[in-house]
Amino acid sequence: MSLVTESPVWRPFTQHALQPGAVKIARAEGAWLEAEDGKRFLDAISSWWVITHGHRHPAIMQAIREETEWLDQIIFAGFTHEPAEALARRLVALTPPGLDYVFYSDSGSTCVEVALKMALGFWRNRGETRTRIVALEHGYHGDTIGTMSVGARSPFNAPYEPLLYEVSRIPFPTRGREQETLDALERACRDRPAALLVEPLILGAGGMLIYRADTLAEMKRICAHYGVLFIADEVMTGFGRTGTLFACEQAGVVPDIACYAKGLTGGALPLAVTMCKREIFEAHLSPERARAFFHSSSYTANPIACAAALANLDVWATGEPAARVAALCDMQATRLARFASDARFSNARRLGIITALDLNVAEGGYLATIALDLMRFFNARGLLLRPLGPTIYVFPPYCVEAAELDLVYDAISEAADCFGASA
Ligand SMILES: *Cc1c(COP(=O)(O)O)cnc(C)c1O
Repeated sequence: MSLVTESPVWRPFTQHALQPGAVKIARAEGAWLEAEDGKRFLDAISSWWVITHGHRHPAIMQAIREETEWLDQIIFAGFTHEPAEALARRLVALTPPGLDYVFYSDSGSTCVEVALKMALGFWRNRGETRTRIVALEHGYHGDTIGTMSVGARSPFNAPYEPLLYEVSRIPFPTRGREQETLDALERACRDRPAALLVEPLILGAGGMLIYRADTLAEMKRICAHYGVLFIADEVMTGFGRTGTLFACEQAGVVPDIACYAKGLTGGALPLAVTMCKREIFEAHLSPERARAFFHSSSYTANPIACAAALANLDVWATGEPAARVAALCDMQATRLARFASDARFSNARRLGIITALDLNVAEGGYLATIALDLMRFFNARGLLLRPLGPTIYVFPPYCVEAAELDLVYDAISEAADCFGASA
């Protein structure tokens, strides 16, 4: 493997003392990454959940090339451009009805921060002091100070704890104990918080934890009853992951504010949007400049990224991705079934195209380094998988073929023989 070791690059989520090298990828196509030395990796986690159809989708690449003939970054205050205008109209039509305004930014963390600022601005401009955020246990919303605050506290963010603000945390709706979550939400809502922030149907970085659509619908109902804003973080769930275009659709929920990022350009370029209901936009309308929404990213509504997103929506409009997602859901379900009663694993689960299972690991032993050990094991077999602790998950791009998925699940079974509790 062509491992790059001498490099000034400080990589994300990497302990360089334990992972000194990185595989240098020279080419990506479909479900595959190819290293400089020709070694290939099946990208079974869609390059950290951003790639949807597959790497370098031809129509998206073509749209990017074409847009570069016209525009690069353009100031977006006082000026606008057709890619941003067209994309906003398309997104309003595509997302749950009532999300009528689109605010552009460039990453998942940023679009969640924007959502939180919109919520606080909404209440302040209405003359109510409401600043507290309610969030789900095990949630993840990004790595900036603001989004770490609403996310689960862990060793990953312990050093920054003094800077993190307090939130009201409600328990994850474990199957059979959903009422505890709803009761906790109701109690939290009585304290007049500004908003509830949730990852709809599945908590990603928290360990691919799945919960029921009717619980999501009930959470929305409670928020509406108490006048608490409901913010859906669809950064990971958006664009087909859960089997529908957006996760909220399955619960019939229209969020007050929704965040979309990862799959918006098909994964080709960084772009994010925060969409909101009319009343949130209108709360910021005033002859007083101080009531404006004071937020901007340098690369807000980047025209090339917007063009990529428009091409992505055109691809969805053909109906082909929805058919592929449906087929992939079946393929994933079939392959997961063989692990349902496998004693080496617990909690084999699936939502849409995502499957996850927890490897039963001997007490103590591997627990601290299991994810790294597993990752190396899979990499050596030409598979890009990146377990979350002992949780192995499969999150492939939609172009993946049945035989390719078989490689993944055979390797997972082999890994259990090497690293499982009974080994
Ligand atoms: C990845 C993720 C984010 C953060 O997105 P970035 O683009 O990495 O900043 C926020 N929320 C959820 C649910 C995510 O999965």
